[in-house]
Amino acid sequence: MPQVDTHCPYCALQCGMSLDGARVTPRDFPVNAGGLCQKGWTSGSLLTSPKRLTTPMLRVNGALEPVSWDFALDHVARKLRETQKSHGPDSVAIFGGGGLTNEKAYLLGKFARVALGTSQIDYNGRFCMSSAAAAGIKAFGADRGMPFPVTDLKNADVVLLAGANPAETMPPFTQHLRGTDLIVVDPRRTPTAELASLHLAPAPGTDLALALGILHAVVEGGHLNQSYVDDRTSGFAEMWRIAASWWPERAERVTGVSAADMRLAAEKLAAARNAYILTARGTEQHATGTANVGAWINLALSLGLPGRTGSGYGCLTGQGNGQGGREHGQKADQLPGYRKLDDPAAREHVAGVWGVDADSLPGPGRSATELLEALGQENGPKALMVFGSNVVVSAPRSQRVQDRLSELDFLVVADFVLSETAALADVVLPVTQWAEEDGTLTNLEGRILLRRKALTPPPGVRSDLDVLHGLANRLGQPENRFPTDAETVFEELRIASKGGIADYSGVSYDRLRAGEALHWPVPENDHPGTPRMFLDAFAHPDGRARFVPVEHTGPAELPDDEFPLQATTGRVLQHYQSGAQTRLIGELNDVVPEVFVEVHPDTAKRAGLEEGDRAVVRSRRGETVAKVRFAQSLKPDLVFLPFHFPGEQRANLFTNPALDPVSRMPEFKVCAVSLSTVDGAA
Ligand code: SF4
Repeated sequence: MPQVDTHCPYCALQCGMSLDGARVTPRDFPVNAGGLCQKGWTSGSLLTSPKRLTTPMLRVNGALEPVSWDFALDHVARKLRETQKSHGPDSVAIFGGGGLTNEKAYLLGKFARVALGTSQIDYNGRFCMSSAAAAGIKAFGADRGMPFPVTDLKNADVVLLAGANPAETMPPFTQHLRGTDLIVVDPRRTPTAELASLHLAPAPGTDLALALGILHAVVEGGHLNQSYVDDRTSGFAEMWRIAASWWPERAERVTGVSAADMRLAAEKLAAARNAYILTARGTEQHATGTANVGAWINLALSLGLPGRTGSGYGCLTGQGNGQGGREHGQKADQLPGYRKLDDPAAREHVAGVWGVDADSLPGPGRSATELLEALGQENGPKALMVFGSNVVVSAPRSQRVQDRLSELDFLVVADFVLSETAALADVVLPVTQWAEEDGTLTNLEGRILLRRKALTPPPGVRSDLDVLHGLANRLGQPENRFPTDAETVFEELRIASKGGIADYSGVSYDRLRAGEALHWPVPENDHPGTPRMFLDAFAHPDGRARFVPVEHTGPAELPDDEFPLQATTGRVLQHYQSGAQTRLIGELNDVVPEVFVEVHPDTAKRAGLEEGDRAVVRSRRGETVAKVRFAQSLKPDLVFLPFHFPGEQRANLFTNPALDPVSRMPEFKVCAVSLSTVDGAA
């Protein structure tokens, strides 16, 4: 095939690249301007890897044995039918992923609700952007991670990054921050914090108090944008009733950040002609994640930033299709176009597109963590199908998740590598990779991108769309209800999304092939798209943004005598999410081949540990064995571990599954732990 212009398979920046066979070259595209990170450069490796799956497999006497596609699909369809016959429609569950294309996410939601009639579908985006999404909906009435193009950041005077480390997680992004005065909020001195003029390092789980303290300093300093608050928002008085008591000195006692630094941050933001506040997982992955993000949005609103060209609030989405993946129906409570599953008008509209009765559609189901917790339990699902996710590594309290998987009657995993979750399955279905199929993704700025087929897949693999088609037919669905061609699915998706918040109805493959930059909503065929949202009005019925009253409550679990330290988890440059892909790429895995625990040397030595030793990081839920890495800049009561590794190296063996009450996001970013040598000395 000739060289094809496409996009990176990994994160939500969706850097432009060209593929000639499996050879990657960077491409000049607005978000990356010719740059790629190490993951992008090496992303072609897996296309030719001998480790990829090319044959369906069935577990026979404990081992996975190759079988034909017909056999595998017949077997899966029969098991799903039998399970539902014995235990009801909700006994079969589906778990999707934020890396799936829009077409796959859409068809997966339709498959669950129409072909299976189950309410039990959710996806790993719950573990990623759900808190920012929930807070965005509360404040603005719509959730588009960045309601402005990434390139707008170039003109900012000041950018505050809360819990974001793009210098490590999406390096090409940082070129948009060059020349900008950066304020970085992070308990760790990350590579991004090194770029900042002001690094605010709150104690883990206290971001909300910090945001309240800065907001208080804004008001106290006379910087409240009163005309903006009057003209474009509601709810300031209710919000201020709480924030008024968070003077910086009080916030300093909770966060450890000096009141002077809070005032300096407030002054910098207020003095800027153009300023942005951006959040990411560090502040979002908490049991108070929605409130945390709400606090940062309150700060942005008090300064009059959102809905103004050159300023704003945004979320740095993580997974490749983290944005589109949460818009089209693989989420437990959602229908395509960011419609609510419990909205009668939305049900009528989407059921009409699907050619079914609205009453036949199930209602909302369990969120991801709750779904995994219910597997194999009384009244819980007995069979699970997983697409594009590796929950054995990525879910909180992951050994418990693994145990739950083993209690299922039937587990099916569709993947292109034998992930740790696939290795436990009764049936493994080998599917195509990103460059072997067409599909659209929606990047972190809400721009819809066409990722084009650049390679012919090896014999033996099929696309996820083919899998859903084959199963739907075997489950008695009409032949054409589940198309296999991505463009055909997209044509249906755009009609289903019409009139929704995420309206794609004016987008077509032809427009995307022609290179048009289309940010949703795109409500008509000749609509130019909406690169900047909220310029005239926010998406609430009254057109106003809402301040949301939020109060600091702190982490779900605090250190005590038995678990005296706090642990936080995150990513490294070389790996992506659960590492199922990047751990197979030598150039990446050789650099970071195993989990490590970053710890202050004094803390390590007190536990009898030296650099390079194996340490046990233990919480109330489990323990991880990790190699000690000294970090002089780390707070003495904090340890950090990356979460990309399997087995006993899983950071998620100890993380806290406490959930945010709104987003159902687990508290990945803070829990109480102890540190000891492997022989148990502390
Ligand atoms: Fe790929 Fe993200 Fe790296 Fe860009 S920053 S090359 S999209 S992983």
